[in-house]
Amino acid sequence: MNKKLKLQKPTGMHDILPSDQKYFEKVYNTCKSVADFYGFSKIDTPILEETELFIKGTGETTDIVQKEMFTLRTKGGDSLTLRPEFTPGIVRAYIEHGMKNLPQPVKLYSFGPLFRFEKPQAGRYRQFNQFNLEIIGEDSPIADVQIIQIFYNILSELKFKKLIVKINSIGDSQCRSYYRKLLTNYCRSRQRLLCSDCQRRLKENPLRVLDCKEETCQRTFSQAPQIIDHLCEECHSHFKLVLEFLDEIEMPYSLDPYLVRGLDYYTKTAFEIFVEDTAGTVPAQQGQSPLSKSALSGGGRYDNMVKIFSGEDVAAVGGAMGVERIILAMKGLDIKLTETPNIQIFLIQLGELAKRKSLKLLEGFRKAKIQISEALGKDSLKTQLGIANKLKIKYVLILGQKEALDGTIIIKDMELEKQEIVKLEEVVGEMKRRLKA
Ligand code: AMP
Repeated sequence: MNKKLKLQKPTGMHDILPSDQKYFEKVYNTCKSVADFYGFSKIDTPILEETELFIKGTGETTDIVQKEMFTLRTKGGDSLTLRPEFTPGIVRAYIEHGMKNLPQPVKLYSFGPLFRFEKPQAGRYRQFNQFNLEIIGEDSPIADVQIIQIFYNILSELKFKKLIVKINSIGDSQCRSYYRKLLTNYCRSRQRLLCSDCQRRLKENPLRVLDCKEETCQRTFSQAPQIIDHLCEECHSHFKLVLEFLDEIEMPYSLDPYLVRGLDYYTKTAFEIFVEDTAGTVPAQQGQSPLSKSALSGGGRYDNMVKIFSGEDVAAVGGAMGVERIILAMKGLDIKLTETPNIQIFLIQLGELAKRKSLKLLEGFRKAKIQISEALGKDSLKTQLGIANKLKIKYVLILGQKEALDGTIIIKDMELEKQEIVKLEEVVGEMKRRLKA
């Protein structure tokens, strides 16, 4: 049947229009320069990975794996998934390329699109971009702090003020299993107060109930036992050192016993960074963090993932920052970008010969690194002048039929309404002089 084409982007996905590109460039350039400073190298991994990688890495009971993956079957019958997060792919690359043999830790950063089949809402998309950092092969708490510090510094450089780091430790497989029992017992006696998602989480992954966004569930958990009171000695001393390092660099943080994050692989440190007055931030519930949907950045330690994939013991810590969410917050808080200066020169050409000479002339400007605008497809003087006026151009260069024959060109100063004829081969130098003045 001939179905009419719906000329609409897929649900939850969005076009990044030219007018928004400057925000993406600003975020990317800031992330890159801070990551370079801290000695991170860039890695790009495929957008598609084996589905099994996420089932094993991200975790079978996570919302991402259970509800949010875009999975496809190839013609050869393989199951591939559009990456819903960076970490499993990067850890796969670390193992596959023998990065264990490099000096440790290996510090990697990535930037690119991720895909999650989520309910679309403000700041939550099905395709979005993240800036991601990983430090693989380091178990010292100082690495946890460096990751937090880098995201904090990037957000500060982007001119966010009033940033808060929420931090928690979710222990390791040793202490978590005991805490899981405590929490499950607490919840069982209040089961009828929990939403249906929490009833399911309670069976599959009890810790996840703590970051449920339902108000009644949050109220129910406000008296629940807290994991930091039940950490084993190693996790306790790791967390204590993380907090001491944070104090040392005077990082504003607050302990959030309910911060567990959505992924199975976290061990020990978990963190999220919020901006206090982001447009769209949902206010904190009693004793709770603001909803994590408004976190600009989040991450934590994941000492088990390499072991799950390859059996080797390699500690790691990382985090990610949502680019669209940062841009939304920048706009909401009216954070201005430094304006890129307008192009100041426009070339008008009239007639066949002038059009032909224009291409060479533009090359001269490009080599001299002078920006110049044009409308080479247009023929009339009126149309071209109209475009130059719209662009608020200061200098118009007019290459008419006579000038093309004489080897000259007219320079018209639109503000002073003065014009002058110069030799064609001298116009680049003359414009350079005028722009400098
Ligand atoms: P996560 O990978 O879930 O730890 O998220 C890290 C960061 O990515 C969050 O703090 C958000 O800024 C951003 N993020 C996560 N999910 C989405 C989404 N669906 N749409 C836009 N940004 C997101």
